[in-house]
Amino acid sequence: MVIIMTSEATQRQIDNVVERVKSVGLNVHISVGEQRTLIGVIGDRTKLSETPLEAMPGVDRTMPITAPYKLASRDFRQEDTVIKVNGVKIGGKEIVVMAGPCAVESTEQIVHIAKVVSEAGAKFLRGGAFKPRTGPYSFQGFGEKGLNMLTEAKAETGIGIITEVMTPRDVELVVEHCDILQLGARNMQNFFLLKEVGASGKPVMLKRGMSATIEEWLLAAEYILSEGNGNVMLCERGVRTFETYTRNTLDLNAVPAVKSLSHLPVIVDPSHGTGLRHLVAPMSKAAVAAGADGLLIEVHHDPEHSLTGDSRQSLLPEQFARLMQELKPLATAVEREI
Ligand code: PEP
Ligand code: MN
Repeated sequence: MVIIMTSEATQRQIDNVVERVKSVGLNVHISVGEQRTLIGVIGDRTKLSETPLEAMPGVDRTMPITAPYKLASRDFRQEDTVIKVNGVKIGGKEIVVMAGPCAVESTEQIVHIAKVVSEAGAKFLRGGAFKPRTGPYSFQGFGEKGLNMLTEAKAETGIGIITEVMTPRDVELVVEHCDILQLGARNMQNFFLLKEVGASGKPVMLKRGMSATIEEWLLAAEYILSEGNGNVMLCERGVRTFETYTRNTLDLNAVPAVKSLSHLPVIVDPSHGTGLRHLVAPMSKAAVAAGADGLLIEVHHDPEHSLTGDSRQSLLPEQFARLMQELKPLATAVEREI
């Protein structure tokens, strides 16, 4: 971090700042310019997190040099993080596909979809049991009953389960019914929830908030990592823009960007990212080309009778199976497997 003094700062004010920095065990590098003095802080600046430097007389502003997240950064860990869960490696050579309905709607529905997506090559079944919707009067999910239905689908097929947890209170319960905890876009900055899933040690997929910057997203991941849970993957699911044709704008720039900033696996959700069935296959292919480590795809065998509003973005089982085949040569082209 660099501390930029005002042009009127006195020598005494400069000395005071230097003394404060040194008092927490850090060193300084002072650069005296014609107009201003700059104080470079050498060492771990988190030691200054409780020192309000910008409030000190003579200080104009401070400028971070390194990223504000640490455990999530590539500087901290150069090798890619590979998460081993239910016999599958996420973040390795294989592009891992997670597929299923938006919500768990019945045992028959979820077991049927588990079979079709697993036969087509998906390694995880997705499906929400807690579904608070934009309005309070829409279907809200089956809660614990829905979790039991997911457990039944796993028992029948062996497929891993990924499902969303929405409150710190439910973490203990959801952990028992899944292999990966999903943190939704609306909860990306629910810091109490981030800490709780961090403490659980369970693999977590952290979705990007719909208006979150890449830095905010990585800082949210840092909350989970700093609780000692290194099994974190990120999920790009589209951000809000001025465009209205699509539900969101799938930010595929974020995939190579995050992979250069961080060692964590990156999953892409083209279903919520576009909101439109006919865009899911092309954007899945683009995601693979961009370096995604996995895909999260909504699949429903009867979208017309689905209880959630996401039927327009769900692939039919045969469309999903075709896409899985079409992704193979693309994966090979980028030296991956699917
Ligand atoms: C979901 O995947 O079911 C979901 C609600 O997505 P998001 O949190 O990205 O809106
Ligand atoms: Mn959905």
